[in-house]
Amino acid sequence: MTKGNINVSVENIFPLIKKFLYSDHEIFLRELISNATDATLKLKHLTSIGEAKVEYGNPKIEVRIDKDNKTLHIIDQGIGMTGEEVEKYINQVAFSGAEEFLEKYKDSAKDSGIIGHFGLGFYSAFMVAEKVEIITKSYKDEPAVQWICDGSPEFTLEETTDKTERGTEIILHIAEDSTEFLEENKIRELLLKYNKFMPVPIKFGTKTQTLPLPEDAPEDAVAETEEVDNIINNPTPAWTIAPNELTNEDYMKFYHELYPMQFEEPLFNIHLNVDYPFNLTGILFFPKLNNNLNIEKDKIQLYQNQVFVTDEVKGIVPDFLMLLRGVIDSPDIPLNVSRSYLQADGAVKKISSYITKKVADKMSSLINENREDYEKKWNDIKVVIEYGIVTEEKFAEKADKFTLYPTTDGKYFLWNELEEKIKPNQTDKDGNLIVLYASNADEQHSYIQAAKDKGYEVLLLDSPIIPHVIQKLETSKDKISFARVDADHINNLIKKDEPVIAKLNETEKESLKKSVEEAITDKKFTVQLEDLDSTDAPFTITQPEFMRRMKDMQATGGGGMFGMGGFPEMYNLVVNSNSEFAGHILKTENTEEKIGLIQHATDLAKLSQNLLKGKELTDFIQRSYKQLEK
Ligand code: ADP
Repeated sequence: MTKGNINVSVENIFPLIKKFLYSDHEIFLRELISNATDATLKLKHLTSIGEAKVEYGNPKIEVRIDKDNKTLHIIDQGIGMTGEEVEKYINQVAFSGAEEFLEKYKDSAKDSGIIGHFGLGFYSAFMVAEKVEIITKSYKDEPAVQWICDGSPEFTLEETTDKTERGTEIILHIAEDSTEFLEENKIRELLLKYNKFMPVPIKFGTKTQTLPLPEDAPEDAVAETEEVDNIINNPTPAWTIAPNELTNEDYMKFYHELYPMQFEEPLFNIHLNVDYPFNLTGILFFPKLNNNLNIEKDKIQLYQNQVFVTDEVKGIVPDFLMLLRGVIDSPDIPLNVSRSYLQADGAVKKISSYITKKVADKMSSLINENREDYEKKWNDIKVVIEYGIVTEEKFAEKADKFTLYPTTDGKYFLWNELEEKIKPNQTDKDGNLIVLYASNADEQHSYIQAAKDKGYEVLLLDSPIIPHVIQKLETSKDKISFARVDADHINNLIKKDEPVIAKLNETEKESLKKSVEEAITDKKFTVQLEDLDSTDAPFTITQPEFMRRMKDMQATGGGGMFGMGGFPEMYNLVVNSNSEFAGHILKTENTEEKIGLIQHATDLAKLSQNLLKGKELTDFIQRSYKQLEK
C-alpha cells in the first residue's frame, strides 16, 4: 500500500473547490460521466487499431445509488488505470488541472458571465463527496487498484482483488450537505440534463419490459415481462448522423426528444455540419412563432462532443436566431471564459456568421423548392427574418431572395416581383417607387379600399418590427419610399403630373377652409384642402408617415430610438374640395348648421381612423340618432 501526499501548493484545495463552485455543484456528475465516456472511447480506439487485444463488446456506463451506505457509484467498462497510471493521472495530472482551474477561476469569478463548462474534471467529485474511492482495473494485464482520498491532500493507494472486470468504478461518499445527490429523482434529472445524448449508453436502474406475444398465442394469453437495463440516453442523436441518412420523421422525433414538453411540430429544420475552419454540428428548428415569443423556455442547447454545456448561447448564435430551437455541438467554442470575451473571440464570430449564412441558404432553398408551402409558413417565420434584416447586415444582403411581401389580398411577392408589379402604377413624377402598406387590415380598411379602388397594390405588413425593416429597406435600396395607406392622401402619395380640375374657385376654397378651421378647434389637426376626385371621401384623416413611423419605432425600441422622447401626435384633416359634400357646406347659410355638418363629417373621418373615442364617440352616436329622427 502506498500512502502519500498529493503534491499541491494550495494547502487545502477542497474547501476552495466547494466555495468557488457553490452554485454549480451538480456538474460533478457530468464531469465523471465524461471521464467514463472518454475511458470507454479510448478503449474502442485502442481495440480498433489492434493496440488493445481485448473484446470491446457493448460497454456501458452505470450510475448507481446506494442509499444505505450513502454512496453514489459511477462504473465504466473502459480502459481502466494501472496503479502507476492512478499516481500519474489522478495524483498529478488531475490535481494540477484542478489547481490551474482555480487560479483561472479566481480572476474571472468577478465576471458573473462565466459559462457552464469548467473542465474541472475528476476533482469536482469533492464538491459533493467527503471521501472518494477509485477502484480500477486496466485493460492491460495488471492487478486492480483502490485509491482513497478523504478530501485532504493525503491519499492511499493499494492493490485489490475486489475487482476482476476491466474498467473503473468511482465511489462517492456523499457529504452531509449534499444528500440530495442520493435521491433517484435528482440523479435522473441530472443525467437527463447533461448526459441525454452522450455517446456511450448510460444505465440507471432497470425497468420492466413486456415481451411480444408469439404469433400463434391464444387471445387471452398474458404477455411475459422481463427486467432490462434502463438506458437513460440516446447515444446517437440525430445531429451526429449524416443528413442524407435522416428522414423528416427522424428530425421530428429528435425534436420531441429534445423538448419533451413541446407538442407542436416545428416548421422545418436546418442541419449544420462544418469541419473546417472549425468543427460544428447541430440541428436548428424553426418553431411556429405566431404568438409564442417565450424565448426563455426550450432554447437552443450547446453541447461539446455530445455533453450538454448550456442553453445560454447568446454571442454564439446571432440574436435574431435565438428564437429558434435545437442543438449546436462544437468542441471549438471556448467555455472557460466570460461572456464579453466570448463575443470578441474570432472562432466564435466565425461560428456565428456561419450559422447566419446557413440559415439564409436554407431559406433560399426552401422557397425555391416549394413556394406555396413557404408562403403558407411565412406568417410563422417572418419575425425571425425581419429581425435578421434589421440586425444582421450579412443576412440583410441575402434576404431579398426569401423575404415575402404579402398583400392585403393574400398574394405574396418577392422584392423583385413587387417592384415589377407596381412600377408602372406606383412611381411618382420624381421616379420614386411608392410602396403602400397597411399595418392592420381591419383598422385601415377604408384607406386600403381607397387605394385599391385606384388600382394600387397594398401590402399587409403587420409585425411590430416592421417600421425598422422599412427604414432599413429605404436606406439600402434606391428611390424607394414606403407609405402607410393612411400616411397622406393617396393622390399626394403618388404624385402624378395630371392635375384634377378644381370645381371651386379660390375665394370659395378660402371660405370653405376658414369654416372648417373655425369648426375644428383641436390643435392636433391641420386642415388641408385638396382638389381630389369627386368620388373620393369628402373628409379624410391622414398621419405624416415620418412622424408616425418614428413613434412606432420608439414603441418597439431598438434603432437607438429609446429615450428620444415624445414625438407629437399630428394629423391632417384632408377636405376634398371637389366633393359634393364640400359644395353643400359652402351653400349652407346657417352657421350652426354649417358647424354641425363639418363636425359630423370630421367625426366620420376620425371613426375610420379609429380616433373617435370616449365622450366624442358618445356625443357622435347621440347626434346621429337625432339626425335620424329628423
Ligand atoms: P481530464 O479528463 O480533463 O483529463 P480529469 O481530472 O477528469 O481531467 O482526469 C484526469 C485523468 O485521469 C484523465 O485524463 C484520465 O487519464 C484519468 N481518468 C479519469 N477518470 C478515468 C476513468 N473513469 N477511467 C480511466 N481513466 C480515467
